[in-house]
Amino acid sequence: MAKIPVAILGATGAVGQRLVSILFNHPWFEPVALCASERSAGKPYGQATRWILPDPMPVRAAAMRVRGCAPFPDPAIVFSALDAEAAMDIEEDWAKRGRLVVSNARCHRMRDDVPLVVPELNADHLRLALRQPYPDGGAIVTNPNCSTIGLVLALKPLDDAFGLESVNVVTLQAASGAGYPGVPFMDLIDNALPYIHGEEEKLEAEPLKILGRLSADGSRVENASFGVSAACHRVAVTDGHLEAVSVAFKRPADKSAIMRAWLDAPVDTDGLDLPSAPKHPVVYADGLDRPQPRFDKAAGNGMSATMGRLRPCPILGWKFELLSHNTIRGAAGGTVLLAELCVAKGLVRGFSPAGIAERAPCGEPRREPEPALA
Ligand code: NAP
Repeated sequence: MAKIPVAILGATGAVGQRLVSILFNHPWFEPVALCASERSAGKPYGQATRWILPDPMPVRAAAMRVRGCAPFPDPAIVFSALDAEAAMDIEEDWAKRGRLVVSNARCHRMRDDVPLVVPELNADHLRLALRQPYPDGGAIVTNPNCSTIGLVLALKPLDDAFGLESVNVVTLQAASGAGYPGVPFMDLIDNALPYIHGEEEKLEAEPLKILGRLSADGSRVENASFGVSAACHRVAVTDGHLEAVSVAFKRPADKSAIMRAWLDAPVDTDGLDLPSAPKHPVVYADGLDRPQPRFDKAAGNGMSATMGRLRPCPILGWKFELLSHNTIRGAAGGTVLLAELCVAKGLVRGFSPAGIAERAPCGEPRREPEPALA
């Protein structure tokens, strides 16, 4: 096998379909199983799935028979796009079988020994995975909530440069963030919903873990201490979460210094050659009415967060808009990049980027692996 065998849990859902679309054309990973609930198990994926993406379902995926989510031997990495309730036990079952689980679900994110990682920002937090109680290299690593990811891509360079004091964020979140079929048509058309269950709590808690520091012994994250207030809304947009953000800094900032922080700051993925890493995790859209979901969600193949309308805030100091793709950067693409980082950091037993290159039929030049985290 030239590539790393992977399984997709929740492959029939909104995020699972994005994973299928990305992973059937990935240079490192080979999907060997598509898994979902007992409702879908046993059917060909092409029949079990109501495909909602604009690009066609991969032909090989359509013919694969959907499996249930109980562990089996083949995959080395398991991508989870499961409903949170189902994910709780199923993800642990896979970790107990020595597999690396890379999860989109919320259920394990805030555990002390579970890394909550945006690869460009806090790759060092992956060390937490070494503390988990699973045998044979089994581990759970997690991707943040879809609105959190865009927000922290904006905030981390600002925190490093000026020190964050407080953050106020108001989101306008796309319908696909609620999965498929999601919010009823009659609730969403000609309307906006000023409540998304559990979302404000996630947006107020997750950035503090991601921007926190790993303790000296690598056993836990000491959370960042700035305040976050979030108000979340569901709007009639297909993909792309828009966020209006105001920030107060500890040290003085001006517009050009903020722009430099966003566009020039080094990131943890620099030099790793990860296939899904965007060239620029943060981009800036000029124009009084940008960013917009329609025009900016595809920036960096859906992996870049787009900032815009940076301007003074009369109350907190500075404010801006940001837009990120919720099912690509905010979910499937984010977990694929995270899995690539885990391979590069030696968290997947028996596999390294150099090993993949060595065995890949295209015979790319061999690269030295990163030192293992252990
Ligand atoms: P979704 O469209 O509702 O898909 C849920 C998937 O989970 C389906 O494949 C479903 O299979 C499977 N499933 C449900 N109950 C199951 C069970 N008891 N056992 C096994 N499989 C089960 O949801 P989604 O929007 O893709 O979200 C998936 C996960 O990603 C959730 O945890 C969500 O919070 C998170 N997330 C979503 C987004 C987003 O933008 N949508 C962003 C970030 C994170 P069947 O088709 O067989 O029912």
